[in-house]
Amino acid sequence: LSTAMHAHYRAFSTATRRHTVMHAWVIEKYGDNSVLRFTKNASFPIIDYPNEVIVKVHAAGLNPIDINMRGGYGAATLKMKRDPLNIKRTDSEFPLILGRDVSGVIMECGLDVSYFKPGDEVTRCLPPLGQSDPSEVILKDKVWAAVPPWKQGSLAEFVVLSANEVSHKPKSLSHVEAACMPYVASTAWSVLVNTGGLNKDNCAKKRQVPDTRSAFTSLLPFILILGGSGGVGTFAIQLLKSWGAHVTVTCSQNAEHLVRGIGADDVVDYTARPVEKTLKSLENFDLILDSIGGETESWALSLLKPWCGAKYVTLVTPFLRNTDQLGLADGMMRSGVTIATKALKHLTKGVHYRWGFFAPSGSALDEICELVDAGKIRPVLQEQFAFPRVPRAFQKVEGGHARGKTVVTVA
Ligand code: NDP
Repeated sequence: LSTAMHAHYRAFSTATRRHTVMHAWVIEKYGDNSVLRFTKNASFPIIDYPNEVIVKVHAAGLNPIDINMRGGYGAATLKMKRDPLNIKRTDSEFPLILGRDVSGVIMECGLDVSYFKPGDEVTRCLPPLGQSDPSEVILKDKVWAAVPPWKQGSLAEFVVLSANEVSHKPKSLSHVEAACMPYVASTAWSVLVNTGGLNKDNCAKKRQVPDTRSAFTSLLPFILILGGSGGVGTFAIQLLKSWGAHVTVTCSQNAEHLVRGIGADDVVDYTARPVEKTLKSLENFDLILDSIGGETESWALSLLKPWCGAKYVTLVTPFLRNTDQLGLADGMMRSGVTIATKALKHLTKGVHYRWGFFAPSGSALDEICELVDAGKIRPVLQEQFAFPRVPRAFQKVEGGHARGKTVVTVA
């Protein structure tokens, strides 16, 4: 019955909709910035499942993965995720829309969605004191979300998402400010909470450990973030500080003011001297979040407290590159062998080695929204671009040295 009702709804919704096409930035092939193309005729998103919503995009955030995907990164795995049963009529992912963060307004809801309401609904309110006419108020369900890389992105007027990927946006933020956060926030949450096992309770709880100076002294979890000045780093610092952890970060010297301003306790300039030497002179860590990768892996795990359940989680993994180069089956096999070998090697030294991944989660964004509206986390917006300047925004992100986030205003 639900399927039949949804099919009926879909036909009705498509027939009555004012739009059949929309403005968007698309790519028709993989390559450098020249493949980005503006079109007024991108297909309007369709609600395929009853739990989906269409969001009218007000602002879209860019992330390094947009630059990588523009060049074809992850194509094999993402293609499989888009159409796991291979039932779509077209075999091509093009035209592909990039953009992973969205802040906007709910415009249409599938039949099973009750948590959100379409935003152009008009309601009548009690008249203001002294007036007799009821006033009309336009209710706008303002939301934010991270668009998973296997879905059409937010560099468009509209984007379709599952309702459980979407959350009400913080009231204290503008759309542009809100678009700074969802993708990096969902990544940091996935890595720190799901993979790292941290949360507000175990960060705030002061653990009692024996100490020579007094009978007992209290100790907060010590966290190291390798790469504190970019999108993930600036969010993770604030989340961990809001939970009460002690946070050390590495960054360039000219980013020290920024990371201290959002709460970092200790800051180590990675450009000044062998960074591992300076870090070695500090207290060992309970968790390391590595957003840099590469040679950091060769020394970072020695900074963890051994035999205490301490974890190293890296965001820079060969998972998608392996499937791009070797195909799905062989690529996944290679990744499985690599992670198992590394995890075992480090386990024998008493520390845990993990890969961390972005995971979409509306409920995580709900919790983050509360922290933002309580003033505990603020957006770190580096630069905003108007919609016609999307290629410039890509150049900015591609140039590296991020200090927070790059956002595109869409509506
Ligand atoms: P950004 O580009 O926003 O930030 C990177 C930051 O790192 C910049 O501020 C840069 O500044 C700084 N940096 C560069 N080299 C070093 C170094 N050796 N030590 C310390 N800081 C350094 O990236 P994001 O924060 O958005 O993402 C970080 C990484 O995580 C990316 O590689 C991204 O692809 C990956 N990622 C992976 C995900 C997953 O699912 N696995 C999800 C999200 C992100 P400067 O160069 O001036 O020092």
